[in-house]
Amino acid sequence: MEISTIQSLLERLFPVCRSITGNGVRRTLEILREIVDFNITEIPSGTTCFDWKVPDEWNITDAYLEDEEGNRYADFKFNNLHVVSYSEPVNKWLEFKELEPHLHSLPEMPEAIPYRTSYYKRDWGFCLTHRSLAEIDRSKRFHAVIESDLKPGSMTYGDIVLSGKSDQEYLISTYCCHPSMGNDNLSGVVLWAALLHEIQSLDLYHSYRFVIIPETIGAICYLSEHSEAMKKISGCLLPSNVAGPGRLGYKKTFIGDHTIDRIVEQTFLENGIEPVIYPFDILGSDERQYSSPGFRIPTGTICKDKYYEFQQYHTSLDNLEFANAGQLYETLQIYLGTIHNLEMNRNYLSRNPNGEPMLGKRGLYKSIGGSLVQPAHLGNKSHRDFKYKITTQKLTAGSDLDAMRWLLFYADGSKSLLDIAELINLPMSQLFGAARTLEEHGLIEEIQTGE
Ligand code: ZN
Repeated sequence: MEISTIQSLLERLFPVCRSITGNGVRRTLEILREIVDFNITEIPSGTTCFDWKVPDEWNITDAYLEDEEGNRYADFKFNNLHVVSYSEPVNKWLEFKELEPHLHSLPEMPEAIPYRTSYYKRDWGFCLTHRSLAEIDRSKRFHAVIESDLKPGSMTYGDIVLSGKSDQEYLISTYCCHPSMGNDNLSGVVLWAALLHEIQSLDLYHSYRFVIIPETIGAICYLSEHSEAMKKISGCLLPSNVAGPGRLGYKKTFIGDHTIDRIVEQTFLENGIEPVIYPFDILGSDERQYSSPGFRIPTGTICKDKYYEFQQYHTSLDNLEFANAGQLYETLQIYLGTIHNLEMNRNYLSRNPNGEPMLGKRGLYKSIGGSLVQPAHLGNKSHRDFKYKITTQKLTAGSDLDAMRWLLFYADGSKSLLDIAELINLPMSQLFGAARTLEEHGLIEEIQTGE
């Protein structure tokens, strides 16, 4: 997907007032469906999902807070963060003292409007910059107006399964419930759609289940509605906070060295990028649900300015100046590279296991251009400790003959292409190309391992 398409999606989706239910999510998914195919499902309010219930649906048309002279301190039409998400409707005149418990600001960031929600407790409130709160004349009376609607409806989510040939299915899940903030979480929404767009028409080896849901309640309901299928998921990538100006990062799965973790690290290495590595933590997003004891789906997140780690997080300063399409595009390349490597991660069995096969009589020396010179980087082939140790030197291709010889050596079915890539420090694409050549000559065959 072009950077300009990503930018225009960001700009169109940014103003939409999303929450865990309501028309904001519907509108967002409709816009995404202009570029990618997926199904939209509505789950009625009151539906039980494990220990939770789908809440009433929330919609809002307008809200403002003004004093007797018409000075406005909060205006939904100017910025939807001015209203606490899920605020019940209100229309009253109040003394400052009565109003105060309903006001939220950030003294340490006086120019930022904070993001606040009250999903499961009936309440209402306004979020303002600390500067405007400080300027309020507390002797005045204030008109608090929130034109919202909170009643039984439904919660909306999107999903699609792209079916491949192997018996492994990977989950690509993101949340879509935050209002106007760029990195958390509009960037994840747009990257999810861009990734789906890029792989939707490919002839895939593994299956990929793309899910876009409101955070927490959406993931729990999705697990509840698809529990058999979700128990079979091999691993998950959860794009979130992917378009900040800082360094690329990777938050590991709860296992830490699962295939997902290793493939992501291999992809970074092949791109010559050293990411910030974050160990698994339950403070985060839907990995808490997907990796819960009933499902245990290893879930990793490739990010660019991870949540909690940038100052603008959950405020109006997380805008499209902070998060942009160019930065998102960089992260998208790592997600795409990861899927590409996942697609190539196969196991092979030698069909000529007794001694080395004779490559010369098959013309395999010629096919690699006759270069038998060992490239410099192959000099230190000691086994790589890939845990936390990631070099910034881009992993470059070595000789194809070497790649073939190592593949033949390890082709007892027990090692995946990723295992071999780690052992001999070669890009997976080169090994895959070599494997294809050996397969064509009947020297190895691909086997299913059921991992
Ligand atoms: Zn968030």
